[in-house]
Amino acid sequence: MVDMPLEKTTGAENVIWDLSIFYKSVDDPAIEQDMQTITKEVDAFAATYKGRVASLTADELLTAIKTLESIYDKTGRIENFASLLYATDTADPKYGALVQKVTEYDSALGQKIVFFDLEWNNADDAVAKKLLDDPKIAHYRHMLEATRRYKPYQLSEIEEQLLSEKSVTGRSAWTRFFTQLTGAIRLDYEGQKLTMTQVLTHLYSPDRETRRKAAESVTAGLKDKSMELTYIFNVLAADKASDDKKRGYPSWVSSRNLSNKAPDEVVNALIQSVTGNYGIVAQHYKLKRQLLGLDELTDYDRYAPLPIKESDAFYTWDEAKEIVLTAFRGFSPRIAEISQRFFDENWIHAPVLPNKRGGAFCALAVPSAHPFVFVNFEGKARDVQTLAHELGHGVHAYLAGEAQGLFGLHTPLTTAEMASTFGEMLVFTDLMNKESDPEVRLAMLGHKIEDTFATVFRQISMNRFEDGLHTARRTEGELTTDRINELWMNSQKAMFGDSVNLSENYGRWWSYVPHFLHTPGYVYAYSFGELLVLALFNIYRERGAAFVPQFVEVLAAGDSDWPEKILSKVGVDLTDLNFWNEGLAAIQDLVNQETELAKQVYPNKVK
Ligand SMILES: [Zn+2]
Repeated sequence: MVDMPLEKTTGAENVIWDLSIFYKSVDDPAIEQDMQTITKEVDAFAATYKGRVASLTADELLTAIKTLESIYDKTGRIENFASLLYATDTADPKYGALVQKVTEYDSALGQKIVFFDLEWNNADDAVAKKLLDDPKIAHYRHMLEATRRYKPYQLSEIEEQLLSEKSVTGRSAWTRFFTQLTGAIRLDYEGQKLTMTQVLTHLYSPDRETRRKAAESVTAGLKDKSMELTYIFNVLAADKASDDKKRGYPSWVSSRNLSNKAPDEVVNALIQSVTGNYGIVAQHYKLKRQLLGLDELTDYDRYAPLPIKESDAFYTWDEAKEIVLTAFRGFSPRIAEISQRFFDENWIHAPVLPNKRGGAFCALAVPSAHPFVFVNFEGKARDVQTLAHELGHGVHAYLAGEAQGLFGLHTPLTTAEMASTFGEMLVFTDLMNKESDPEVRLAMLGHKIEDTFATVFRQISMNRFEDGLHTARRTEGELTTDRINELWMNSQKAMFGDSVNLSENYGRWWSYVPHFLHTPGYVYAYSFGELLVLALFNIYRERGAAFVPQFVEVLAAGDSDWPEKILSKVGVDLTDLNFWNEGLAAIQDLVNQETELAKQVYPNKVK
């Protein structure tokens, strides 16, 4: 026998979810039977309503929507069963085949149902208003109202079909080319040929020379492909400009704001507030430079680990469960009670397994079942916070599903992280309070701060880059690599101020970020979500117990109304700059704590 280091067992080894609420197994004949039954129902639905949606009575509309809801609930059960099975063993060909089958099945059903939204949007405003105001459809009012927000930008059926068909060889083809091109890049690093991800990992190395070489290698790889990458960015920015013009969107970000259910003035308040507080970023990185003992901090030093003691705490599954449930119970017994069910009724998949997907997620599933939580638990402090995060999603979905049903279950991106990040904050605060070693506390704070920066500040600086890129492409025509480099550097220098010396090489680092091409305008939603929670957490600290039932009510509201209306229940005004500044003040507070602690632990290093 070879000496193998034995992995410590956590007790999560046997925490396996029970999917029998959906089907017995991947071979269960009921899956195929259900697919056939649903297809018949969809055909009957199309036969009954196609061509009639705009002229239905309130009663008929209600019946139609309920039918749709029941269809989506049933397909949701099949989808969730397939994708959850697959996540636990991605190498099992039976699971892979079921996922593929379900994807194709969904796409075929979708094409049969798409008429419903199109026809509803084509109904006259007066007709639609009368239906929307009818108390009979009150439960579905927001869903119907929200669908109509696309009406002004919808084109004729022929145009929509053409755009959709041409996008296969247009936008989709170019984003796929980008994925293939960047995926195929092999970087020269220390005599090896490595992928971008492999080299980027070295930016987290404690050795500065290693980090410098990694950054140089990435820059060289991007420079080598700069003609292709610049061209792809130009084509996609121009393609978006022509789509936006044709549909009549007033700005490059309007369509994204619409899908996020975030009014322009709310997004503007967020951006103004974050860019106005870039000084917080500089404060942290100046401190980091001193702790690292460097004369200057460069772009390749940003992710360097601090040379300080980290927590070596190891948590068993039972301990993690206790920490999370105790933190939740201290906040709301109702939330703890729902979370308890995830453990008691096998709604969690926790062990690390050979072909299991990495990371963690919560499947919201469908209201006729319940949410499921997926983690890879290894017993680290980070894993305890991840468990809290995913259970937060689980509680949110449970409450929204119970109160709103399927059409109110999925909140927009901007508010989707409300319960998860809140849950994580509760546990982080508890863990910090329990830790007495100032050095470990400093390390914990450092990690929290850099995580928060990555979601709040970096995303807004990237949004500023996108704004520069799309505006320049619309006003200046095709852009050179140098011009795009300049736009990128401006956005990054604004954020770091004089705390980080960004080398000229760093100018090219916009060109491998997939979000810019796949979902333009997407990145600010991360910042939105995180700041919202930080502000809510502050409100909780101020108001204490009075805040709790209001917050639970907000979670249970799900997607039943516009986010700003739902959040007004806890007295939040998203259009108010002060609201966003409150979330930023919480980050400032963390950095101030970090500064004080650093002075205490390293009086010789920090001035
Ligand atoms: Zn999340």
